[in-house]
Amino acid sequence: MKPEQEARLKAASDLVARTGARSLAIRYSEPDEGDDGPIVWIAIAEFSRPKGAVSQVGAALSPVEAIHRLLDSLIDGGLCKRCGRATAFDGENMLRKGRLPDVIEGIPTCWITYDDDAEKYVRDCERPASDRYVPPV
Ligand SMILES: [Zn+2]
Repeated sequence: MKPEQEARLKAASDLVARTGARSLAIRYSEPDEGDDGPIVWIAIAEFSRPKGAVSQVGAALSPVEAIHRLLDSLIDGGLCKRCGRATAFDGENMLRKGRLPDVIEGIPTCWITYDDDAEKYVRDCERPASDRYVPPV
């Protein structure tokens, strides 16, 4: 695995922990013998709930993408505790490339994106004002 992918995986694991998960496991499933299909990666987060443990799962063809799918399901549609906007996960850093709106279906959105310098995921409202997303006019 390339160093930048390792950094992404660690940052994504930290972000899963920040959602309140008590554990995270990353597994893979190999194709059966004679099947040349792809290896499927699975990220599994477990949460403690009053009625027992609950798991959330993301699956993809790479470990980083599997954990990104998990983070999509954990973060999208939540509420940012810092700014009060709806949360959305941007694993591909599309926001930084100016390809995502800051309002989705009329709801102001706080995107959580990867900060290459800090090597962690940050809320848009945590970035310095000069580095925040400014929607195209
Ligand atoms: Zn926010």
